[in-house]
Amino acid sequence: MKLTLCELEEQLMGSSDIPCAVDTAIASVRIDSRLVSKGDVFFCIEGNNFDGHNFAQAALDAGAVAVVVSQFLPELDGKPVIMVRDTVQALGKLAAYWRQKSNARMIAVTGSAGKTTVKEMLAHVLAGSHTVHKNFMNLNNQLGLPLSMLEASGEETYWVMELGISLPGDMAELGVIAMPDMAIVHNIGPAHLEGLGDMEKVAAAKASIFKYLHPQGKAMCCKDYELLWNAASGITDPIGFSSQDENAPYYSTLLETLPDGSGKFLIKAGDETIEVILPTCGSHFAENAAAVTGAAHTLGMELTEIAERLATVKLPRQRFHCHTHGKWTLIDDSYNANPLSMNKAIETAKDIAGERPLILVLGDMLELGDEAGCAHCDLGDKIADIKPAATFYHGRHYSEVASKTNGSTLVPVNKPDEFLNGIHELGLSDAVVLFKGSRSCRMEKYFHALNSKI
Ligand code: ATP
Ligand code: MG
Repeated sequence: MKLTLCELEEQLMGSSDIPCAVDTAIASVRIDSRLVSKGDVFFCIEGNNFDGHNFAQAALDAGAVAVVVSQFLPELDGKPVIMVRDTVQALGKLAAYWRQKSNARMIAVTGSAGKTTVKEMLAHVLAGSHTVHKNFMNLNNQLGLPLSMLEASGEETYWVMELGISLPGDMAELGVIAMPDMAIVHNIGPAHLEGLGDMEKVAAAKASIFKYLHPQGKAMCCKDYELLWNAASGITDPIGFSSQDENAPYYSTLLETLPDGSGKFLIKAGDETIEVILPTCGSHFAENAAAVTGAAHTLGMELTEIAERLATVKLPRQRFHCHTHGKWTLIDDSYNANPLSMNKAIETAKDIAGERPLILVLGDMLELGDEAGCAHCDLGDKIADIKPAATFYHGRHYSEVASKTNGSTLVPVNKPDEFLNGIHELGLSDAVVLFKGSRSCRMEKYFHALNSKI
């Protein structure tokens, strides 16, 4: 980021009088005082557990050239302090200014499941012929998005950023910060219902990113979700992609699962088709591939070039990674879970298993508010329908799931050892085992336990 203290003062219109502000270059913007180095600006953010105002002095001691506050701190009298009404909004405002100042084109990715996956895939594809900046890991909210943008050098051609929302007003806040040249919505599902309400509201909230597009901006939308497509079409004229409709402008589907756990996918742009191998055999990743193909092609890349780049993509960890050990396939999808990604993962694992026994190792789906009970009863129904050889369950929603499994074996587990004993008792010689649950369930513990024993 190349901004001066003077620009910071002007943009935030905070009350301040910092000597030498005109020429002082800001090195980085920080919200964690432990990361502050000489030349940084420190924004004091009031979080649930900590109030950044308590660390303003520490930031100055560490070399910050200014601190941005929303509370009067008498001990900082005479120090380089910028007072604003709301430090989170001020951070967003600064990022929006930086975004307008830089020449980069912003591509915003949102959806209910797979944002990080699509962001990483697209950033990798575009990086074949362009300079690309992306948000670090999962930094996708009102703090993470601006911090990620402010980390860019401004020399890049593209910024590929995921936007994550959990409340109705969130997309409006992120939209004005991002002002995308292209926005991609690749799916919707019952995620963050606690804050967003019902599925129609999820569709409206996700599609609302298209309201914040630059006038010449491109709207890319998955056609496979009717509510989403309708909401998007009410705002703009989206370019469609699909993993179900071969006639959509952009299309992808899984053709074959390969023995090493990777998948052969078809990607299609208009009449042109190519096969690519991706490091996952999840058929639901076809919509991610269709989104990436559509976005990159719309930005001017040839399909052959897109396929070449996709072939070397590395997916982020714990996103439907298939590990084969002889006749056993372990699917590590432990990064997160909501009803959309849970259903797709279970169905896909069932397809992969074919005649082999399927074992599910599942954890709670969290942040569903009033819908949590129903969602876990639905999961029980799904298990009854899919008929796995056994399901191991970790979490407090065990009883809701158990109420619907219709006699299918459901074993509560709290620790990996209990799970290992349980799976040993099944006496299987081969199986497909899916590990999935919300982030805080840390289902990777179960995956690692079995992966190291096999
Ligand atoms: P978060 O809301 O935590 O930021 P995200 O939307 O960024 O999540 P990822 O982190 O990419 O999503 O993946 C979360 C989970 O969703 C993983 O288990 C992954 O395998 C799964 N997933 C990825 N793509 C899809 C998809 N198209 N449909 C359903 N599930 C998906
Ligand atoms: Mg993410």
